Amino acid sequence: MAENKKQRSQRKKKRIQSDIVDTEKKDLRNKETNIIAFFFVGLFVATIVYLCVFNIKDAGRVINNPYNKRVDNQVNKVVRGDILSSDGTVLATTVTEEDGTEHRYYPFDNLFCHSVGFSSANGMKTGVEQSQNFYLLSETDNILDQIGNDITGEKAKGHNVTTTLDVELTKTAYNALKGNKGAVIAMEPSTGRILAMVSNPSFDANNVDTDYDEWLTYESSDSVLLNRATQGLYPPGSTFKIITALAFIRQNEDYYNYSYKCDGQAYISGGTTIACFDHTVHGMQTLQDAFANSCNSAFSTIGAGLNKTSFINLCNTFMFNSNLPVGFEYSTSIMSVTEQSSVSEMQETSIGQGKTMITPLHNLMIASSVANNGVMMKPYIIDRIDDAQKRTVVQYSPSKIGTVMSSEEAEYLTECMREVVLSGTGNSMRYSSFEPAGKTGSAQYDDSDNYHSWFVGFAPFDNPQIAVCVILEGGYSGIPSAQFVAKSVFECYFGS
Ligand SMILES: [Zn+2]
Repeated sequence: MAENKKQRSQRKKKRIQSDIVDTEKKDLRNKETNIIAFFFVGLFVATIVYLCVFNIKDAGRVINNPYNKRVDNQVNKVVRGDILSSDGTVLATTVTEEDGTEHRYYPFDNLFCHSVGFSSANGMKTGVEQSQNFYLLSETDNILDQIGNDITGEKAKGHNVTTTLDVELTKTAYNALKGNKGAVIAMEPSTGRILAMVSNPSFDANNVDTDYDEWLTYESSDSVLLNRATQGLYPPGSTFKIITALAFIRQNEDYYNYSYKCDGQAYISGGTTIACFDHTVHGMQTLQDAFANSCNSAFSTIGAGLNKTSFINLCNTFMFNSNLPVGFEYSTSIMSVTEQSSVSEMQETSIGQGKTMITPLHNLMIASSVANNGVMMKPYIIDRIDDAQKRTVVQYSPSKIGTVMSSEEAEYLTECMREVVLSGTGNSMRYSSFEPAGKTGSAQYDDSDNYHSWFVGFAPFDNPQIAVCVILEGGYSGIPSAQFVAKSVFECYFGS
C-alpha cells in the first residue's frame, strides 16, 4: 500500500512537471505567434504609410519620370485629359481615330507651343504637357468602374488641366511680335498668375511627330524649341537700372537731391568711357530724370560708386544666380559682380551691359515686385486640375517669394518708371488711358550696332493689374521697339 502511494505521488509529480513544461512550451508558442502577428501588423502599417506618402508626395514625380513603365500602362487605361485656357478654351486635347489610335490636337497650332508644349507619339513631352503629365493621365473612377473598364477595354478620361493663360492676350502678344525673334510674358503682379507667354520663332505643335528632327537641326539662335520667355538669356540693358537705382537710393538717403550733368559720355578714373545712347547730351539730371531718359553717363557713374557687398546682396535678394520657384522650364539669370570686380565692370553692370544675363521671366518678376509694393510673387501657369466629372482635384493659389524692397522704395521706383512713359524713353504710351509705368532697354550684344530691345512695365501705375515684359532680338524689323509690342498687349488687356 505504502509502495503504491509513493508511486502515485511520484506519477502525480511527473504529471505536474510535464504540465509545467507544456505550459512553458505553449507560452513560447504564443510569444512566437505574437511576434509574427506584430511583424505582419507592422508590415501592414508600413505599407499603408508608404502608399499614403507615395500617393501624396512621390506619385507625380515617379509617374512623370520617363523611365517609369507605369506611365505606359496609364496610357493604355486612360485617355489623356485636356489642357484649357483660363476661360475653358481647349488648348490641347486627345483625338481618337476610328481604329482606336489616339493623337494630340492643338487647335491654336503655334500659339501655345512653348507654354502648353507638346506630347508626341513616342512619349516626348514639353511645357504643361510634361509638367502635368501625372494629372493628365490620372482618373478618379471608383474601383467598380475601373474593373468594368478593365473588362470592357473602355478607357477612363484623364484629368483636365486649366491654365492661367488668356487666349486673346496670347494671340495679341504673338501677332505684335510681327514674326520677329523675341518673347512676351505677362502676369498679374499681385498674384503671379501668368496671363500670356509667347516665344518666336515657334512651331506647330500638331507636327511634332513629323517635324521634330528638323527642328533639332536649327542653329541655337534660330531654335524654335527654346522658350525665349523663360529660357532665353539676354543682357538686361537699361532695364537693369531698376536694380541700380534701388541700390543707389539705399546707399544715399538724400537721393532726392541727386543731380548730375550729362554731356553725352562719362569717364571714371580707373574705369572706361561710357556713352549715352546715340551720344545724346542729357544735361542736368535728377535721379528720376536720369532714369526716365536712361542716361548711361549718370548710371555708370552711380555704378562706380556703389558698395559692392551691398550691391551683390541686393542682386542675390532679387534671385540672380538662383533657382526660381517655378513649375516650368527656365534658365537661371547670371550676375557676375564679385568683391574683386573692377570699376569698369561695376560701370557696365549698372547699365545692364557687362556679363549680366537675364530671362524675360525674371525681368518681369522684378518689375512686378515694384508693382506689388515690394513683394515678389511666385509666377504660376496652372490654375487647377479637374477630374472628368468636373470635380476639382487640385486648386493652386498665389504664393509669395518674399519682400524684396520696402513699399516706400517700390513707390519711388514706380514714380521713376511712370516718368519713363510721361517724359522719357517710353513715350509711345504717354497718352494711353491705362497709364503704364515701365523701363525700356537697348542691349548691345556684340561689337556690331545690333541691339536687343526691351520693355518691362505695368499698368495702371497706381493700381497695377498687369505687368508685361517684351524682348525683341537684334535685327528686328517692322516695329520701332519692344515698347510697341507691350503697348498692344496693354491695349488688349484694357480693351482700348
Ligand atoms: Zn546722359
